[in-house]
Amino acid sequence: MGNADFSELRKIMVREQIQARGITSPDMLKAFNEVPRHIFVPEEKRNLAYEDCPLSIGSDQTISQPYIVALMTDSLAIRRGDKVLEIGTGSGYQTAILSFLGARVYSIERLSTLAKEAQKNLASLGYNVTVAVGDGTEGWRENAPYDKIIVTAATPQFAHSWQEQLTVGGKIVAPIGGKLAQDLIVADKISTKHLSTRLICSCRFVPLIGKYGFKE
Ligand code: SAM
Repeated sequence: MGNADFSELRKIMVREQIQARGITSPDMLKAFNEVPRHIFVPEEKRNLAYEDCPLSIGSDQTISQPYIVALMTDSLAIRRGDKVLEIGTGSGYQTAILSFLGARVYSIERLSTLAKEAQKNLASLGYNVTVAVGDGTEGWRENAPYDKIIVTAATPQFAHSWQEQLTVGGKIVAPIGGKLAQDLIVADKISTKHLSTRLICSCRFVPLIGKYGFKE
């Protein structure tokens, strides 16, 4: 399959999976139309890159379904210049979408093989993001505070570290629940000690493994 075919599949993905389900902001649609998702998918699965489902990226991890990436990104109302902490780089596709929207992205991944591959693909496409290997359940204190935090693996709760590292007025989105099923929740930090939460939908993510997440 050539670039023109991928571009055609991408347009269909945006129209049928994202726009048709109610995400209509022109900036968001442009980002999903332009970021080449197939580059973030293992070569042998590239023909499936624009399907309406998550895909395996190796190491028992997944690149999320396109619509879920769109829903989470939309819930954060990203503005150019926002400093964003992403927990769980995975393939780097979500990272690329955030960067395309003008965010300054700090992304942390537990598995070094995935972090390296994501970094390589992000750099080859010219995205200027910072990726590190580490336990994202502790946040990333050196670069805090953040305007937005996105957690792309299932977590038992909004970890205390993330709440501390988020600015007042900032937003955080995460799949919260058990290892097998979660609720996707977005929260506004309305004061130094309080979050105001809103349920988006139920979902199913791979678990966040770490100090304030799940055990391996
Ligand atoms: N947003 C990613 C994408 O677009 O490909 C998908 C992320 S995948 C669903 C979740 C990722 O979280 C996995 O790559 C996993 O290794 C990572 N992860 C799990 N526990 C973590 C932790 N404590 N810190 C950082 N990353 C973690």
